[in-house]
This record gives sequence, C-alpha cells and structure tokens, in this order.
Amino acid sequence: MQSDSTATEGAQNPSASLKSFRSAGRGYWHNVSDFDWNDWKWQLKHRVTTIAQLERLMPTLTPEERAGAILAGESKLAMAITPYFFNLIDPSDENCPVRRQVIPRLEETTTAPWEMLDPVGEDSHSPVPGLVHRYPDRVLFLVTDRCAAYCRYCTRSRLVSNASGYDFHPEFERQIAYIAENPGIRDVLLSGGDPLLLSDDKLEFLLRRLRAIPHVEFLRIGSRVPVFLPQRITPELCAMLRRFHPLFVSIHVNHPRELTTEVRDALGRLSDAGVPLGNQSVLLRHVNDDLETMKALVQKLLMCRVKPYYLYQCDLIAGSAHLRSTVTKGLEIMDGLRGHTTGYAVPQYVIDAPGGGGKVPINPGYILRKTADKVIIRNFEGQVFEYPEATPVAPQTARRVESDPCVGCGKD
Ligand SMILES: *Cc1c(COP(=O)(O)O)cnc(C)c1O
Repeated sequence: MQSDSTATEGAQNPSASLKSFRSAGRGYWHNVSDFDWNDWKWQLKHRVTTIAQLERLMPTLTPEERAGAILAGESKLAMAITPYFFNLIDPSDENCPVRRQVIPRLEETTTAPWEMLDPVGEDSHSPVPGLVHRYPDRVLFLVTDRCAAYCRYCTRSRLVSNASGYDFHPEFERQIAYIAENPGIRDVLLSGGDPLLLSDDKLEFLLRRLRAIPHVEFLRIGSRVPVFLPQRITPELCAMLRRFHPLFVSIHVNHPRELTTEVRDALGRLSDAGVPLGNQSVLLRHVNDDLETMKALVQKLLMCRVKPYYLYQCDLIAGSAHLRSTVTKGLEIMDGLRGHTTGYAVPQYVIDAPGGGGKVPINPGYILRKTADKVIIRNFEGQVFEYPEATPVAPQTARRVESDPCVGCGKD
C-alpha cells in the first residue's frame, strides 16, 4: 500500500491533499471499542437518524438543514448516516461535499414541474414487482428497499427507506422465475436499496439461484456499502462472492474524500477475491462539479483498483434541483479528463433519459465535420485533423484477405 501523502506535498500540488488517503477516525464515537466500531451491525444500529442526534452531533446545523431533517423524519426519504460516514463530514464547512450528499435540506421540498418521483420510468418497465427490464439482454433486480445511508438525490427515493409508503416487497420467487423464463436475459444486476445489506446467507441464496439459470452469464451488484459501511466487506463475504464469478461490483463514490483507508482496504478485499470494480458517480453541484475534484476522484479510484464506469447527469428526481449541476459543466469536465489523464480513469458521461429512454452517452464534440469521404476531428488539445474514410472493399478482395488471416490485418 502506498504511504499517505504529507502536508508538504499538499502545498506543492493542490490535488495531492484531495488524493491523500486518510482514516475517517472515530470523531464523536471515540469511546467506542474497536470491536464494536468494526462491526457492521453496530454501525447500522447506531446510525444518525433523528433531528435530536443531528443537533447534538453537529452544532453548526443550518436552519435549512434543520427543517430538512425534520421533514425527512415525517415523510419523504428517511435520513440515515452510519457513524463511520458521519465522521467524514466537516462540521465547520456548510458546503462540505460529504454533508450535502446525506444531510437533508429544506430545498428537497421544492419540486419543479419537470421533476418526477420515478424520473427514469422504472415502474413502467417492470414486468414483475422489483424487476426492471429496460434493455434487451439484462435486468435490474431490486432486492431490498434499505440502504446503509440515504443519498439525498436518490433516484429511487419513491421506494427506498419506505418513508413515502411505496410498500416495496420484492418477491424473489417471481423475480427469479421471470429471469428463468426469458432466455434473452444474460446479465442480472442486483440493486435496491443495497444488496450488501442482506445477510451473507440470503445473498448467497440469491446468487446460487441466479447461477443455476443456464442463460445467466454475468452477475453484478450495485452497492454503496463499501463506501458507507466498509466494515461490511468481511473476509467471509468476499469468500462467498468469489464462488459466483464472473461477478462485478459497481460502487458509488462522488468525492475523493470518501476514499478513506477503510474504503481502500475494503475494496482491496473485494479485488483480491477477483471481483472487478467499477464506480458510478453522480455529477452534483458543489460536490464534484469541478475538474480538479473530478480528476482527483478518478485517479484516486484507480489507486483503489476501481475503474470509473459512469458519470451520471443527476436524474430529475423531485426536490433535487439544489444538487443538480449543468450538462455544460459535465461536458467541460469530460473534455478536461479525456487525453489529460489515464484513459482507464475516464468514465462515460450519461444522461438517463427522462421517462424511461435509458442511458444515453453524452460526449464533447470531437467530430467537427463528417462527409462521405472524410471526417474532421479535433484532439484533446484542440488541434484539428482530417481522416479519410476507408474506401469500400469489393467482396472478392475481402474473401481473399479472409483466407489468410495475417494478410491485411496489420499484425503478425
Ligand atoms: C443502468 C441500468 C442497467 C445496466 O446498464 P449497463 O449500461 O449495462 O451498465 C440495466 N437496467 C437498468 C434498468 C438500468 O438502469
């Protein structure tokens, strides 16, 4: 493991402090034993869920946050923050990027006409409860409505935490039967809520049932547990998961500060169990909508053996306007990443089309002009190039090339 960056490095290079790995520490919970602190069930049981706890732990609570927390306690999306993750909040900074993700605000009650409860049309693509079949060869399998902590911009806030009375009850047998009856489904993505909140036994049961379906090739788990509750990533869990390969895990990190030594170690345990890791970030105002923060984040993810997979434009979820950044900003960030840093570090920026169109890739314009015989392109430095279109190859010639695989392929 690399050593943590020092303060002097931070002074020389501003991104060094963003990229340094630190422990979340014990903060307000300094009297708790190591045994309890490292026990994921203790962390869940001691989550910050009430306005009274919040006022005690964070004297700098603003009126907007106080009002938001009271409303979250009554309806809408519940508030819950693990003690571990709570320690990443900087109480002296009203705009702390961690704080904005998990502490409710009064603005959540303001809904614009174009905002929705089900912004990406999941319910209209649901053949059985808890299953979303939007794309031809893969399904989203919702296994629970609970998360370790609740993101204030949650696209599934209509169902998670059960605060708004959606009454989500996954019916595993019906979900599994649908997948078994549809041979076109080769990829199953477990999500929720957070699948890693299930017990090892329950998760193993689901993975075993899915693996028993011959046409299911690829399994994925979408989870923010490694980030909110790294204590859950136990050696026992990893030993169980590795029996179901190929199994990928998509995590959700938005700001480099969330990548602590605890998270890095938890991700290391998953990687060592052969689980390829991807990250899905959401572009959030005053959290990660600047190039320096995003570049530090994607580079730090690589240090944790995580491939930045998607950068999402924030869905039009009701009450999220204060957290949404602009598409213009997203494109500017993508332009600042591609070519300027490791290709592996560059995620695909997407908009999940409102109403259920699915994910649409959004890219800065690299093709300036295209005609029948050429394309005019620009590179990451703005230099312009012309690339002639290939001339169509006659079928006769093509067959000749096929007969000798080394001719014309450019490799030997
Ligand atoms: C995102 C998503 C998937 C997975 O899409 P990939 O591009 O394969 O990661 C599948 N189903 C639904 C409904 C989704 O929203």
